Amino acid sequence: MAAHRVTLIPGDGVGPEVSEATRRVLEATGVEFDWDIQPAGLGVVEKYGSPMPDHVLESIRRNKVAIKGPLTTPIGKGIRSVNVALRKELDLFALVRPCKSYPGVRSRYDEIDLIIVRENTEDIYAGIEFQEGMPQTRAMIDEISHAVNKPIRPDSGLSIKPISVTASKRIVNFAFEYARTHGRRTVTAVHKANIMKFTDGLFLQVAQEIAQEHPDIQFNDRIVDNMSMQLVQNPKEYDLLVLPNLYGDILSDLAAGLVGGLGLAPGANLGDEIALFEATHGSAPKYAGMNKINPMAMMLSGVMMLRHLGETYAANMLEGAIAETIREGRYVTYDMKADRSDPTAVGTSEVADAIVAKLEKARTPTTI
Ligand code: NAD
Repeated sequence: MAAHRVTLIPGDGVGPEVSEATRRVLEATGVEFDWDIQPAGLGVVEKYGSPMPDHVLESIRRNKVAIKGPLTTPIGKGIRSVNVALRKELDLFALVRPCKSYPGVRSRYDEIDLIIVRENTEDIYAGIEFQEGMPQTRAMIDEISHAVNKPIRPDSGLSIKPISVTASKRIVNFAFEYARTHGRRTVTAVHKANIMKFTDGLFLQVAQEIAQEHPDIQFNDRIVDNMSMQLVQNPKEYDLLVLPNLYGDILSDLAAGLVGGLGLAPGANLGDEIALFEATHGSAPKYAGMNKINPMAMMLSGVMMLRHLGETYAANMLEGAIAETIREGRYVTYDMKADRSDPTAVGTSEVADAIVAKLEKARTPTTI
C-alpha cells in the first residue's frame, strides 16, 4: 500500500519534542508515512510574516490529513490564536476529544469513556471583539444600550457571541453520526439556554429538532454549570457530549482531569474533507527543550489519525502499547507519578523508546 502523505506541524514550545516522539511511534507500527513537514508558529513569523503561512494551509488542504504539535498564542500581543485561525480557515467545524481511563493512571476515577464533541467555528471564539476605550466600542455600547434599553458601562470591552442555526445543525448532526458509528448510545447537549436564550437557547432548540431525526440514539441536555458538577460526581453516566465552542473548551479540560490530565488527552479537528489531529494541551513553554513533557496525548491523537486513515490494526497496536506502558508505570513522565518530583520519572524520548520497543516486539514474528 502507498505511504500516507500527511502534513506534520511540529509546533513550538514542547511541540517539537512531542511531535518527534509521536512520529517515531507512528512509524514503528509499520504503517508507511510520507511526511510533509511544515514548521509554523512563533518561529516562522520573522521569515514569513505570519505564524500560519499560506503554504502550510495549502499543504493541509492538499494532503487532507495533518497532525500538529501545540502552537503558542502570546497573551494580549495582537496575534490571534493560530490554532483558532487554523480551525476557522480550514472549516474544521468539529473538535472530538475522547476522555478514556487507562488502568494504571493516577486518578480519582476509573473506567471513564467519554467523548466530547465541541463546535469549533463560532461562539465567543469568533474573535469579534471591541477593545475598551476605542471610539468604535463606545459607539457600539451606545447603540446596543439604546436598542435593548439596558445600560452597559461605558468603560466596557465587548466580545460578540454568534451561534447560528447552520453551525448548530452541523455539529449536532455530526455528534449523532459519530455516536452511531462509534457505538455510543446517548448524546447530551450542553448549554446555558436559561440565561442566553437567543444563542444557547437556539443551540438547544436545534439540538432537540435534530435529535428527532436520530431516534436510535438517546438524547438529553444539561445546563453547563450542572454538567460541570455532574462530571465530577457521576462522570460514568455520560457517553457523548456536544457543546458550543467555549463550554467545549472548558469541559474538555475538566474531562481530561478525570482521566489523568492533559498529558493523556488527544483530539481531532474534523471538517467535511480535512482532518487535523492534535493533543488538547498547549505548548507548555516552561518545559520547552527539557525532554520532560508527556508525549502520550499527541501519540493518542496519532491513534485517532491511524483510525481515520483506515489503519485500524496499527491503531489498536499503538493504543495497546501506550496502555501497556501506562499500566507498567516504568517508562512514564513526571505528570503520571504520585509525586511530581519523583526521580524515577523518565523523559519524553524515553517514553517513545519504550513504546517503539513494544511495537517492534509485537511486529516480530515468533518462531516456535
Ligand atoms: P499548556 O497546556 O501548555 O500547559 C499548562 C500546564 O499543563 C503545563 O505547564 C504543564 O504543567 C501541564 N501540561 C500540559 N501538557 C502537558 C503534557 N503533555 N505533559 C505533562 N504536563 C503537561 O497550557 P497553557 O500554559 O495555558 O498554554 C501555553 C500556550 O499554549 C499558550 O500560548 C496557549 O495559547 C497555547 N495553547 C495551544 C494549544 C494548541 O496548540 N492547540 C492548546 C492550548 C493552549
